[in-house]
Amino acid sequence: MILGSHVSVAGGLAKGVARAEAVGCDCIQVFTKNNNQWRAKPLVEDDITAWNDALSASSVGRPIAHASYLINMASPKDELFQKSIDALVIELERANALTLEGLVVHPGAFTDSSESEGLDRIVDAASEALGRVEPGSCRLLLENTAGQGSCLGHTFEQLAYMLDGIEQADRIGICLDTCHAFAAGYEINTKEGFVDMRKKIDRLLPENSIAALHLNDSKKPLGSRVDRHEHIGRGEIGVDAFRFVTEDSLLGKLPGYLETEKGTDEETGEDWDVINLRVLRDME
Ligand SMILES: [Zn+2]
Ligand SMILES: [Zn+2]
Repeated sequence: MILGSHVSVAGGLAKGVARAEAVGCDCIQVFTKNNNQWRAKPLVEDDITAWNDALSASSVGRPIAHASYLINMASPKDELFQKSIDALVIELERANALTLEGLVVHPGAFTDSSESEGLDRIVDAASEALGRVEPGSCRLLLENTAGQGSCLGHTFEQLAYMLDGIEQADRIGICLDTCHAFAAGYEINTKEGFVDMRKKIDRLLPENSIAALHLNDSKKPLGSRVDRHEHIGRGEIGVDAFRFVTEDSLLGKLPGYLETEKGTDEETGEDWDVINLRVLRDME
């Protein structure tokens, strides 16, 4: 599989590429701006050149970005809804400028409205944002969620509804997070449960919708609807699910990005990304 990780770009985008290469990533996910702020310093030509040069000089490829957590396309509040669209436009423009393959976004939470109103807001927001951005390298990737609170996108039925409604279908796709699927109730830790989920994907989503994977184990149990990532094989999901993914004819061909905790294992002093990537590669 093509395996990599989300890395920090502290000190500049090119530094992120160096970090990814140092731990042995084939692919890379970054934030192109502070993920807890609405505003961003515009990208300048030097940033773009440094990023492109760093990537082409490295063995790292398949770059994607994760959008800000502030964005809520499902919000019933007009101000937040509009702000979210504007932010998504900026994120998409940055992703295209950096020739990224995808921009991962959490669909949003309907708060005090309803599931169906929230789903329609997401369709409208994504359609408007895509309409305002020139087509480029980047696909907008809706991420499946754990379903915390009123967060939408925790079922493939909901994701299918979004994909079906959003205009410009060739510019959207799905990022599948293993921790979120498990927390949402998909029993991917057993062969039977994994096969069930795969059948759902085949039945509900258009072909080639899934463009990227987030490979995370889960601190919280099946169906908990709580999103807490754990190192691969050390959480409630366990290693088997990741073997099912790597061996899968569809999912095993996609780039998979870790979003597990950084730092080093206290016992061995080894970098956690190095450890998690090895656990995944040893399954192949
Ligand atoms: Zn995410
Ligand atoms: Zn998560």
